[in-house]
Amino acid sequence: MKNKSDIEIAQSCTPKPISEIAEALNIEPKYVEQYGPIKAKIDYNYLTDHPAEDGKLILVTAINPTPAGEGKTTTTIGLADGMKKIGKNVVVALREPSLGPVFGIKGGAAGGGYAQVIPMEDINLHFTGDFHAIGAANNLLAAMIDNHIHQGNELNIDPRKITWKRAVDMNDRQLRNIVDGLGGKKNGVPREDGFDITVASEIMAVLCLATSIPDLKARLGRMIIGYTRDDKPVTAADLKAQGAMTALLKDALKPNLVQSLEGTPAFIHGGPFANIAHGCNSVMATRMAMNLGDYAITEAGFGADLGAEKFFDIKCRAAGLNPSAVVVVATVRALKHHGGVAVKDLNEENLDALKKGLPNLLQHVANIKDVYHLPCVVAINAFPTDTKAELDLVEAECKKLGVNAVLSEVWAKGGEGGVALAKEVVKLCEEPNDFSFAYDINDSIEGKLDAIAKNVYHADGVDLTTDARQQMEQLESLGFSNLPICMAKTQYSFSDDASLLGAPKGFNITVRNLKVSSGAGFIVALTGDIMTMPGLPKVPAAENIDVDETGKITGLF
Ligand code: ADP
Ligand code: MG
Repeated sequence: MKNKSDIEIAQSCTPKPISEIAEALNIEPKYVEQYGPIKAKIDYNYLTDHPAEDGKLILVTAINPTPAGEGKTTTTIGLADGMKKIGKNVVVALREPSLGPVFGIKGGAAGGGYAQVIPMEDINLHFTGDFHAIGAANNLLAAMIDNHIHQGNELNIDPRKITWKRAVDMNDRQLRNIVDGLGGKKNGVPREDGFDITVASEIMAVLCLATSIPDLKARLGRMIIGYTRDDKPVTAADLKAQGAMTALLKDALKPNLVQSLEGTPAFIHGGPFANIAHGCNSVMATRMAMNLGDYAITEAGFGADLGAEKFFDIKCRAAGLNPSAVVVVATVRALKHHGGVAVKDLNEENLDALKKGLPNLLQHVANIKDVYHLPCVVAINAFPTDTKAELDLVEAECKKLGVNAVLSEVWAKGGEGGVALAKEVVKLCEEPNDFSFAYDINDSIEGKLDAIAKNVYHADGVDLTTDARQQMEQLESLGFSNLPICMAKTQYSFSDDASLLGAPKGFNITVRNLKVSSGAGFIVALTGDIMTMPGLPKVPAAENIDVDETGKITGLF
């Protein structure tokens, strides 16, 4: 059993040279760009040169998140190690962590316990510089916007209608709203401005959906930066910025290859927000994982109502991916929380609360089967406090939906603890499926919102505020009605009210704002205030992070 911290476990493992991991995947050395001995970028030309048969794609998703934690990343990595244990050729595809949460509350995002990807310090910090490149491209565009206005504003950009913000990869609430361009005529045009965290930049979503350099450049050019005085959209291409931005991003587009503690290959690439963006790693990384592995395992952010919905309806649709199976992660503790138990009491057996919380899991499982028509397994991420009676109850309720629930002990035991789950997933991948989307892309914007609300959230319907209705009409007149919807909703509930746990009924979803991300290629529907620049908590994780005289980092988790 585990008694060491995540970083201690990670540091006690000696990684294989990354060249060895690449070689085992039969990637010729000319495609492998090493970033030191244990990290590499794989050239995107590999995919054009090797149009191979695609491996099976497996999505790991979860119940609605609770403060008790669910463990999707941990399960993804441990499941892959379990598959490797039973002799399968498997590759992981995950998001890159953002510095904001690393120094804030959540900590790193490289798995946990004995199911981690390494080098976890690098992955959680600068890694191969992708996020810095995205920040630079974002800020180049910002600089070109204000310079254009300063130099005479030929495009007639209305400084009050600029929607493009500056970006930095840090939780820094001080920068949310700023005034810049102060200091008189020589120093620019003063205006209200603000910063987003880099992972909330549209460029992050663009990079993660782009399938080639030309596609990346075209998407960057389509991004809307604001509006003219007579309300016409102004794009990055109008400012002739897309070429230089692509130059900054050409290496960031290449997926990063690392390994798990057990030497399973893992692509860690891209990390868009899961509310105002789609919350999955890059299409490039998923494609490479499917190309190189017989099985590719990937994760979507938040619960299945947001993460899996966008993975299927945005990413799989855009990239033409056909998933084979879905793993829904739950913990007994989190289910008891959905059943009304306070965080401090989650260690006590409580079958009544578990019964009350189970509908949250069961509704996600039913969605995977009935809306998306995919085979599905429930992974119960084991905690030492789970009792046999509790585990049996989860299993019995899942069985009623024709779905198996498998205990996953990967956090405590690594791949060995994931063998049972691996066997079930392999079996599900052999089942034929009739993968479908939750809505027809050619339906109206309101029709698509309605379909997500009713079919996925089990709401009675959608209400649009007057503002949102006007924005919808504007988007339709600009020709954006055939884009998929990117819902920005609380992750804690099926509804747009974070306090409605379990599987609430009898509610409507209120859409307050509709905005197009025309480079990413989706319409963002905001159901409440979504923070695109988080702040640090009273005691930030940063206070406990340190480094000794040999360069060894401590306190990351
Ligand atoms: P998610 O991807 O769902 O956000 P993670 O896999 O990143 O969740 O896990 C969140 C945290 O919970 C990590 O710090 C991880 O070490 C911890 N964790 C995950 N599974 C377990 C478990 N079975 N027992 C104890 N801690 C766990
Ligand atoms: Mg995760």
